[in-house]
Amino acid sequence: MVSRVDLHIHSTASDGRLSPPEVVAEAAEQGLAVIALTDHDTAEGVALALAAASAFPGLRVIPGVELSTDFAQGEAHILGYFIDDTHKELRTRLERMRDSRRERAREMIAKLRGLGIHIEWTRVQEIAGGGSIGRPHLARAMLEKGYIGSFREAFTGYIGRGGPAYAERRKMTPVAAVELILRADGLPVLAHPLFIDDWQAMIIELKGAGLVGIEAYYDGYTAREIDSLLVLAEKYGLIATGGSDFHGIDTGTETALGGVDVPMEAAERLVALAEQRALRSAITLSSEASPCKTGDRGYNR
Ligand SMILES: [Zn+2]
Ligand SMILES: [Zn+2]
Repeated sequence: MVSRVDLHIHSTASDGRLSPPEVVAEAAEQGLAVIALTDHDTAEGVALALAAASAFPGLRVIPGVELSTDFAQGEAHILGYFIDDTHKELRTRLERMRDSRRERAREMIAKLRGLGIHIEWTRVQEIAGGGSIGRPHLARAMLEKGYIGSFREAFTGYIGRGGPAYAERRKMTPVAAVELILRADGLPVLAHPLFIDDWQAMIIELKGAGLVGIEAYYDGYTAREIDSLLVLAEKYGLIATGGSDFHGIDTGTETALGGVDVPMEAAERLVALAEQRALRSAITLSSEASPCKTGDRGYNR
């Protein structure tokens, strides 16, 4: 069964196969009602996706991003929904992350060369097509030259975390990512929590920083795992979201667009919260602009 909601999708703006307008057209074709474009460390595809969405009145496209972050025990990804993709600080920080992705890719290419695997930086850039460079682009270059038999082999044998050609890159902490998303008017949500060893502690820490949701519906999560995430979401007043994490690169093993069953309620709650916050900030702005209200604030101080 295909879900009507998919809140975790990648495009060519990062390491997905379809361009943002192609993602939108494909989602509409499949009858999806709400999608979010959440590229790795970039919001470059958002404007294109939103523009493309105007041709499909039955489909709502939520602007988003997926920030890669580091903490002592590993890596966490933070989704930001309804971010203002023109926000100056967000853009600067994302550009810095993108530079760091390039440096890291070059470092991994050098390490691969040391292992007798020769892939070219120019080819990797071509594969990325001007988008944010990620490990899947390196994997494709390796596959093209016949160094590996499958896409997955690149990760298990070479460039997966801890692999012989793996390289770390500079990232922000999960808390810093949550705070950045909030400053850019976005709603921060912890992506695929079960990749984190102590996910419960992480959720509690991030809730303190302003997290609004956790991705409870994700490919491969058992009913029992989803239940335990839902219990935690309920306990901390978090929205349970979900999505396919579609990249469209490895169609043999990857989850399809809309391939994870996400309840409509997840999208509705996110939209309602975004509208509530936008309204609140509009009221704050108008009260700041009014001299009468400024006087009132002085009185209350
Ligand atoms: Zn992720
Ligand atoms: Zn993702």
